[in-house]
Amino acid sequence: MKVLVATKETQGRRANDFCFAGINDLVRMPIECSSGYIDDPCGCHRSWTSTLNNKYTTTCKVIEDAAMTPEKLCAALAGGSGAQPEEMRAAAAYLSEVAGRFAVGTIIERRGKEFAERVAGVYGRGQRLGAVLRHLKSKRARI
Ligand SMILES: [Zn+2]
Repeated sequence: MKVLVATKETQGRRANDFCFAGINDLVRMPIECSSGYIDDPCGCHRSWTSTLNNKYTTTCKVIEDAAMTPEKLCAALAGGSGAQPEEMRAAAAYLSEVAGRFAVGTIIERRGKEFAERVAGVYGRGQRLGAVLRHLKSKRARI
């Protein structure tokens, strides 16, 4: 079945990319802050967490893992966390649904609840900086 693993491929295409997860680590959705925004310094709204080292990545790769099953994915996601089986089944189903939307080998990024293929050449630093400045300006305007 298709699964999502951490990758450093296309890292840097966004100025605020990071990948502290191990390469090819199976990932899960992170625990997210209740506030903040996608490009904030925290990064929880644009990343996944490695199931192995609990570190974050903003880029994932869709791979076909012939040995993976929904049950194994649940076990990997639980990783001794003591999470309820019901929650893990839902988390595993969600992750495989996301992986299933893309072709094997696709590098994807996450923008909140949106997932998208990383396409070459569309993430200029200027664009990013512009977005940050607009955000800061709008914040300042509210103070
Ligand atoms: Zn956060």
